[in-house]
Amino acid sequence: MATHNIGIIGFGKIAQDQHLPAIKGNPAFDLLAVASKRGLKPDEAKHTFQDYREMLRALPDLEAVSICTPPQVRHQIARDALLAGKSVLLEKPPAATLSELEDLKAIAKRTGVTLFATWHAQYNHAVDEARAILAGHKVKRLVVNWKEDVRHWHPGQQWIWQAGGFGIFDPGINALSILTRILPEPIFIQQAKLQFPSNRDAPIAADLVFSSGDAGEDLQAHFDWRQTGPQTWDIEIETADGKHLDLAEGGIRLAIDGKAIVEEPSEEYEGIYARFARLLDSKQSDVEDTPFRLVADAFMVGQRVTVEPFMD
Ligand code: NAP
Repeated sequence: MATHNIGIIGFGKIAQDQHLPAIKGNPAFDLLAVASKRGLKPDEAKHTFQDYREMLRALPDLEAVSICTPPQVRHQIARDALLAGKSVLLEKPPAATLSELEDLKAIAKRTGVTLFATWHAQYNHAVDEARAILAGHKVKRLVVNWKEDVRHWHPGQQWIWQAGGFGIFDPGINALSILTRILPEPIFIQQAKLQFPSNRDAPIAADLVFSSGDAGEDLQAHFDWRQTGPQTWDIEIETADGKHLDLAEGGIRLAIDGKAIVEEPSEEYEGIYARFARLLDSKQSDVEDTPFRLVADAFMVGQRVTVEPFMD
């Protein structure tokens, strides 16, 4: 098995909490460098840079980079990395717009390197089980409740409230990535109600109605960033033949008809890096854009409602 020299670009919360330990824990990777605008210099990196472009120029042995910045700047950085011949792992959401992602796909294809758009919430055993159980069934009812406290999970992060920061869809896209993985048929945004704080450019809550084209279905999602106390990341599904699935806690617990089937600790980023190593070894790309399309569609057809200002 080849060892892949990898760099991290953007050394914020997710890079420190998840990418760094997942890379360190996977013998298929060697952390060659970190590029941090703020000048962070983690001991684990052999080289550190403030400017990622300098990192791309200075290290011919660098094979791949993980881009862990906010989405608004991801396209330019990914473009520069791909054009420098590096393979690229994209944190979610993979870009700021669908056109940017199409551009990255085309460059990766042209340059023959790996492009991997990650959806961390898909890497749980309960999600795989739910997908297997739902295969071949019709979904009659779906209720997603993805409700969390933004002050707890995103303290001081301003980019999430700026245009292109996605607001509540930053966590909500995780729920959508689970749906697109497990549902047996594609779903479409039929209605969306997006609540924007009067002082922000991104929504704090969203209510979505989906359709799959079947009559008599009831498919909904409710995302909210104002939930204090216990947090909710639950998906409830009823099939036309009466099966009831509860996928709870962000996709780590699955119960069928009230009986627990899977309850395993989350190892999402271990799964992401295991997959990235396989993609690099086989020189393949994996860019699944359906969750991102659903978010774009929600913004496209969504009704905008102004709500009270949000103060950090
Ligand atoms: P964060 O803590 O704000 O970190 C982002 C980092 O990116 C910053 O600390 C900065 O690091 C770098 N950066 C910021 N602006 C930049 C710019 N203009 N150009 C280059 N680099 C810039 O945010 P985060 O929570 O880690 O989220 C980053 C991405 O990971 C988001 O897309 C988010 O959806 C995703 N994600 C987050 C979580 C989570 O729980 N937080 C979970 C899963 C996925 P340096 O100063 O070191 O360069």
